[in-house]
Amino acid sequence: MRKQIAAANWKMNLTLEQGEILIDELLNAPHDLTEDQLTIFAIPFPYLITIKNKLAGKNNIFVAAQNCYNKKSGAYTGEVSAEMLNSIHVQYVIIGHSERREYFNETNAILAEKVNICFENELKAIFCCGEPLAIREAGAQNSFVETQLKESLFHLTAAQLTGFIIAYEPIWAIGTGKTASSDQAQEMHAHIRSVMAKQYGAEVADSISILYGGSVKANNAKEIFGKPDVDGGLVGGASLIATEFTAIMGSLK
Ligand code: PEP
Repeated sequence: MRKQIAAANWKMNLTLEQGEILIDELLNAPHDLTEDQLTIFAIPFPYLITIKNKLAGKNNIFVAAQNCYNKKSGAYTGEVSAEMLNSIHVQYVIIGHSERREYFNETNAILAEKVNICFENELKAIFCCGEPLAIREAGAQNSFVETQLKESLFHLTAAQLTGFIIAYEPIWAIGTGKTASSDQAQEMHAHIRSVMAKQYGAEVADSISILYGGSVKANNAKEIFGKPDVDGGLVGGASLIATEFTAIMGSLK
């Protein structure tokens, strides 16, 4: 069975002290994750070791980096490599968040390189895709997302994509308070799964966890996660509030 995942994306928020308090609050709240449910905290680079240590011994709870560079090593001042993340035993990394695509010009080709370098360093990518508002309004969202998947993932093998994680995040719903309806989410998730199935077969497609991201909150998570092709969420704003994120974790199937 594919994993159901509540992933928090803190983005560039919280001091270390605030982050530690938030993690303590979350760990103190009741959260019985089953074997097939995971929680992942995508947190700023400087906090990875400290928060990872705090989570030691907790079943199915992990930290993730929010990005890594597409080159192995060298004169890239300020960047963080996949090898560095692996060396501190980080297991997950968000790749291709729309904010990185928009503000840091990350193209599908660059993201293909990032996915490769993740595999080379035993990091599990949480690969983000999703369309901007104008594309949705033009009704071209399916082909737009399909191109993102093709250009960044289709060079991978079926074995590499088995158990892979994709986050569908319509850009018009990120941080806007405007959520895709659960039916819109299901429609796109089913499309993503069919695109992967066409290329790699149903077994691989069924093993992929497809998360929804875009203004997920405590009050809408259950309905969205309840859809058959939605395997949890990637959550920004609401992941900074302990009561909200606890409820979101509790909404996983
Ligand atoms: C995100 O950062 O990936 C995100 C979906 O943010 P928000 O939940 O705030 O829309």
